[in-house]
Amino acid sequence: MLKFLLCLLCVNQAFAKEIFTDEYIKQVASLRDMALTDSTAYEITESLTTEVGARLGGSEGDAKAVKWAVAKFQELGFDKVYTQPVTFNKWVRGVETAEIISPFSHEIKITALGGSNSTANEGITGEIIHFNSLQELKDADPSLVKGKITFISDKMERTKDGSGYGKVNGGRYYAGTITAEKGGIGAIIRSIGTDNNRDPHTGGMKSVDVNKETGEMRFLNEKEVVPTGAISNPDADLLVNVIKRGKPVVFKYTLGSHWDGEYTSQNVIGEIIGREKPDEVVVIGGHLDSWDLGTGAIDDASGCAITMATAKLIKDAGIQPYRTIRVVLWANEEYGLSGAREYAKVHKNNMDHHIIGAESDFGAGSIYAIESNVAEYSLPAVAKMAELLKPLGIGYGGNNGSSGADISPLKAAGMATFKLAQDGTKYFDLHHTADDTMDKIVPEEIAQNVAAWIVFVALAAEYQGDFGFNLNTNK
Ligand SMILES: [Zn+2]
Repeated sequence: MLKFLLCLLCVNQAFAKEIFTDEYIKQVASLRDMALTDSTAYEITESLTTEVGARLGGSEGDAKAVKWAVAKFQELGFDKVYTQPVTFNKWVRGVETAEIISPFSHEIKITALGGSNSTANEGITGEIIHFNSLQELKDADPSLVKGKITFISDKMERTKDGSGYGKVNGGRYYAGTITAEKGGIGAIIRSIGTDNNRDPHTGGMKSVDVNKETGEMRFLNEKEVVPTGAISNPDADLLVNVIKRGKPVVFKYTLGSHWDGEYTSQNVIGEIIGREKPDEVVVIGGHLDSWDLGTGAIDDASGCAITMATAKLIKDAGIQPYRTIRVVLWANEEYGLSGAREYAKVHKNNMDHHIIGAESDFGAGSIYAIESNVAEYSLPAVAKMAELLKPLGIGYGGNNGSSGADISPLKAAGMATFKLAQDGTKYFDLHHTADDTMDKIVPEEIAQNVAAWIVFVALAAEYQGDFGFNLNTNK
C-alpha cells in the first residue's frame, strides 16, 4: 500500500513538473517571497475603511463603496473593470435600547439582528424565559413560551478554524421564528462571539420565506417572526446572574429596524485577462458590503484587499496567465448573499468557463492550511501549489474542502473550489461588531495571505488542464 502511494506521488510529481515550467515555478516562488513584505493589501484595506467605512447593503456607504471599488481597480491597473447590478430588499437599522426592569434594573446594550422587524416605539416588555441552547427552545412546551421574551444564552467556543461558530449560530438564525411559533412576544440572544467587550454582535436571522418550487420570496409576518436582538457576552452573563436569583425577570427592548423597499447595488469586478483562454476564469474575491456597526476591516475589506492585491502583484510581475483572473467584490453578502446569487444567475449558461473559485472572507489572520475540492485528475496541480506553500508554514488539508459563502452558489452550480484557511482564533472577538476596525489588521499577516493567494491564483490561472466540474452535485 505504501509503495503504491509513494508511486502515485512520484507520478504526480513527474506530471506536476510537466504542467508548469521550472521557470514559471521559480517566478511564482520569488513573487511569493516578495509579497511577504508588500503592503498593497494593507493599504487597500486602509483605503476602504478610511474613505468609505461602514457599508451596509443598501446604505449610502454601499453606494460609496461601489464607486471606491471601481476607482481602486482602475488605479491598480486591472485590464478590465465593470459592474453588475444586484437588486435586493433593503434593510435598515433604527433605534436600539434595552433594559432589565426587575428584579434589578440595568441598562443593556442591544443590537438588532439583520432582517429583524421593528418593535414599534413602545418597545416590547415581558418576562424572560431562559434557554441554554436553541435545542432547549425547540423542545420547550409552547405554554411556557407564550407571552414571554425568549433568551438563548449558550456561548461560542474559541477555535482556530472557527468551528465554534457553526455550533451556536443556529440560535441567531432561528430564535425569532421559533419563538413566534410558540407564541412568544420577543427574542434576545447572547451574541455569537468570543470576546468580553460590551459590544453586541449583529448578524443575519430568518425573516423571509422562499418558495422552493417558484423561488418566490415572501417576508414573514409578525405571527411568524418576532423582533430579535443580540446582547453582548458581559450583558448576557449579567442577565443569567439576575435569572439565577429565581424571581421573574422583566425585560424591555426597542428596535427600530425594518425592511425599506428595494435597492440596486453592484458587484464590482476587475480582471487580468488571460493570454490563451480569456473566456475561462479563476474567480476570487471578497464581499464589498459590511455590517454597519464597525468599518468592516476584517469583514470583509481585508478579503477584498487580499484578492485585489494578489491579482495586481501577478500582473505587475509581468505575468499574463493562460486564463483570466477575475476578482469579484460581491454585493450585500451579509443579509442576502445577493451579489453571489445574482452572479450565479447571470452566468448560469457559462458556468463551465469558471475553472475554479475561492473567497477570502475570514479576516486577515495568517493562512495555515489549504483545502481543495477538485477532480482527482487535477490533484498534481494542487500538489504543486502545496509544495510552494510549504515554506509559508501552510499545510494541505485534503480534497474535501469547504469554501466561502459567496462562492457557494457557484459551487452548487458545478464549479471546483479552493480554500485558503486563515487563523480565526481572534476573528470572532470582532466579527459583526463596532470593534471591526483597521487597527486589528496586522501588516505581516495580511501580507502572508497575499503571498499564499499568489501561489494558488498564479498556478490555477496558468494550469492548462481543468479542475473538474459538477463535483458536488452528487454529494
Ligand atoms: Zn464576511
